[in-house]
Amino acid sequence: MPHGAHSTLSIVVPVLNEERNIFPLYEAVIAVWQELPEYAREIIFVDDGSTDGTWNGISSLKRKDASVKGIRFARNFGKESAIEAGLRAASGDAVITIDGDLQHPPELIPKMVHAWKAGNDIVRGHHTTIARHGFPKRATSFLFYRLFNLISDTPIVRGSSDFCLFSRRVVDAFDALPEKQKFHRLLSEWVGFPSASISYEARERGSGRSAYTLTKLFPLARRAIVSSATKPMSAILIIGCILSVLGVVLTFGLLYYKYFVDYEYIGGAVVLAAFVVFNNGLLFIAFGVMSLYQIAIYREVQNRPSYIVRETV
Ligand code: UDP
Ligand code: MG
Repeated sequence: MPHGAHSTLSIVVPVLNEERNIFPLYEAVIAVWQELPEYAREIIFVDDGSTDGTWNGISSLKRKDASVKGIRFARNFGKESAIEAGLRAASGDAVITIDGDLQHPPELIPKMVHAWKAGNDIVRGHHTTIARHGFPKRATSFLFYRLFNLISDTPIVRGSSDFCLFSRRVVDAFDALPEKQKFHRLLSEWVGFPSASISYEARERGSGRSAYTLTKLFPLARRAIVSSATKPMSAILIIGCILSVLGVVLTFGLLYYKYFVDYEYIGGAVVLAAFVVFNNGLLFIAFGVMSLYQIAIYREVQNRPSYIVRETV
């Protein structure tokens, strides 16, 4: 892909009630542009249904700087939807998604751009300071990544964030995905393409509070699991097979013992219990087989392309 002298970089910022953070963020991005004089700039704020003065702030930024764009959602649709809208609206040769609360340091943007220029289509910001979060959030995040990577078809690294640079062809690939429940961190792993990772120290929030309470993290985790994890379904089938074999061995073993070794020692209920294990195994297998079709149907409904071409010669 040719990166001419007049490449454009788009910055996409999902914001929910960040009236006090958008100006400092804007200033920080402008300051960083000193290091990127050869690039045209586009800053897209996606107001995800804020109830404070966020939209007014975006509008006033727009009035003084034509490179600012604003999209206002009718209500709160969630950060993933805000990122999706921002990526669709972005026209840049590379697009950087960054939180609006100053936790992602804009000073990292030039480094990301260099990594992109060096041939990486995806440059991930990877935060190292998880220690700053409170214990409940740390514990749930630890457990989530552990469990998730156990069952997911596409693993994600703990500490990965939505501070990320995507090349035009990655953004085009995202835009072409018709699935509604996008989880961009996962999709960025799923599309493939060369990628790099840059570590940074997550800062304190500029102002206000995180919108992600534990109750709001749950739907996000569910989205991640449903969109990528098919292993639990396959596990049902495997459990079924194990139970069936175990049930058969137990039933016949007990019957053998009862009729050929010690008739009195083995009661009829025990044999029945062993048979129930076998029977449960059969049920699990039936569910498992249905799950296989469910996985196939879900994949069809997601309608992702079956491949993404990196290049042709
Ligand atoms: N955000 C959003 N919609 C939401 C929740 C959050 O657009 O429903 C934005 C928020 O304004 C911020 C970014 O997403 O710019 C990260 O949110 P937050 O700081 O609440 O999450 P955390 O940093 O705790 O993961
Ligand atoms: Mg935050």
